[in-house]
Amino acid sequence: MNIVNVGYDSTNYYIIETKNGKLLVDCGWPGTLQKFMGVLKRKGISFQEIKFLLVTHFHPDHAGLLQELKNKGIKLILPECQIDFIPPFAGFFHGKNYPYVPISSNDNLVLKLEDSRKFLASIGLSGEILHTPGHSDDSVTLVLDEGFAFTGDLHPSFMNIDDATTRASWNKIHQHKITQIFPGHGDSTTNY
Ligand SMILES: [Zn+2]
Repeated sequence: MNIVNVGYDSTNYYIIETKNGKLLVDCGWPGTLQKFMGVLKRKGISFQEIKFLLVTHFHPDHAGLLQELKNKGIKLILPECQIDFIPPFAGFFHGKNYPYVPISSNDNLVLKLEDSRKFLASIGLSGEILHTPGHSDDSVTLVLDEGFAFTGDLHPSFMNIDDATTRASWNKIHQHKITQIFPGHGDSTTNY
């Protein structure tokens, strides 16, 4: 499986190859589209190949660029458990000088998590999306059956969090056979 880290500004963004085009996991701050394009160019990835976007949670360094990407033709895969977090997300940028483009709500691919395996299969990926609160209530983890987990900012040692909710989310992730974690920040490692 081809997974490329196309991150910048100390956050990781991952591109996963599927049989129906590429899936991007997380995206950058508002107004950083040119930076993103530059990274893609350096990594030899064509923007047009990116068909889908999933964000692990609605924080500025993971979803700020979201609507700008949608406006260029990328479809947002939106787990139902994240829907209510979109309106307050705009509040991160309120009164600050960010070129945030508000996220439209009527053109997303809304997904019940129990249907995520079926949806992922339809784009050629074998895995599922789990609700993994802890870092934030809207956090999700993409788990691929090859043993990969895209955990966003759930990582306890990075965020210095070890509460019951976070632990329960890690337990949920580790019910799957995970061999490699792809975190939102820092290096991928097997030691989570
Ligand atoms: Zn983050």
